[in-house]
Amino acid sequence: MSSPSISSKLPRVGTTIFTVMSSLAAELGAVNLGQGFPDFPMNEKLIGLVDKAMRNGFNQYAHMHGLQSLREVLAGKIEFLYGTSVDPATQITITPGGTYAIYTALTTILRPGDEVIVFEPAYDSYIPNIEINGAIPVRIPLSFPDYHIDWKEVRRRITPRTRMILLNSPHNPTGSVLREEDITQLRNVVKDSQIFIQSDEVYEHLIYDGVPHQSILRYPDLLERSFVSFSFGKVYHCTGWKLGYSISSPALMTEFRKVHQFNCFSCHTPSQVALGEFLTDRSTYLELAPFLQGRRDYFQDLMRATRFTPLPSYGSYFQLYRYDRISDESDKDFAIRITKEYGVAAIPVSAFYTEGKDDKVVRFCFAKKEETLQRAVERLIKIK
Ligand code: PMP
Ligand code: GLN
Repeated sequence: MSSPSISSKLPRVGTTIFTVMSSLAAELGAVNLGQGFPDFPMNEKLIGLVDKAMRNGFNQYAHMHGLQSLREVLAGKIEFLYGTSVDPATQITITPGGTYAIYTALTTILRPGDEVIVFEPAYDSYIPNIEINGAIPVRIPLSFPDYHIDWKEVRRRITPRTRMILLNSPHNPTGSVLREEDITQLRNVVKDSQIFIQSDEVYEHLIYDGVPHQSILRYPDLLERSFVSFSFGKVYHCTGWKLGYSISSPALMTEFRKVHQFNCFSCHTPSQVALGEFLTDRSTYLELAPFLQGRRDYFQDLMRATRFTPLPSYGSYFQLYRYDRISDESDKDFAIRITKEYGVAAIPVSAFYTEGKDDKVVRFCFAKKEETLQRAVERLIKIK
């Protein structure tokens, strides 16, 4: 009897660059400034609250929409930060991470043949998430070197089949952020259309130099047609928790929950109990931007002694550097070579483009202990 042969639904997908570079860094004992995760400890109080929740018996399934107390605290935070009232009962769903929230939103909306506008460089899950739903990514490059959205090009690429626009601010990998002007343009583009928005705001609190975060949550008219996704792991230094949430209108969230219900159903209970209590203290999120901005500035200062040239980073964990004064190798070859020869791992930015567009730029993650950043830069200085 012959076994069935599989025809890949994602034939162009290989292993993500984050896993490739982290494995190489581990194998060679290199300083890993590649994959985006902090190497400093997470908050002790939050660890204590998880412990307390487990000991107090919060170990069974949470509500399918997420723990009520956590959703209520989130609604309060949204009102405080963005002045928008969202109903925790009908508009917030806790998910196992931000990536899952994006996948679920896309799966809720997209049908085969729908077109989705996606800006490149793009976080690596977006395009496979579009394609697995039979939809078509319409890729628009962000304008190099400041990576802003070319709204004229967006208008040119809209067709009657355009179903969704994917946004990400603060942006991975570039650290660029949406401005108020982008929101005005977005409003004009989607007005009177059937276009939905998926806004990835996992770096919501990691925005620097006093620039306000242009969350879609500030704009109730846009929220009506949007899913806005977040990640607790990314902001509370516990990426391994894989816990996040999505916010939308009641009508869209009803459909989102139908997909969620039979995929994950509900998320890790003790961490939800802990976060529900932890987030009642506003300093837990208000202190994040100055803390991470300190790391960005510290890294940038050290990097002045190298031959790398910085591009601006307004938010996220990441800082891009050009290496054109060092080498004309492809960014992938360069990233692998410096890991092997100098012991520092970075991410080549071409990995965030379908066609591998190579502007000779690599991404470093600065969410690290000062000593880690120092150790990395001591090595990067040696690259001539
Ligand atoms: N979106 C972006 C832009 C990210 O950088 C990340 C972090 N990997 C995610 C989504 C996913 O977050 P999570 O780990 O909660 O799935
Ligand atoms: N978001 C992280 C990054 O950009 C990685 C997460 C992952 O490995 N999927 O580096």
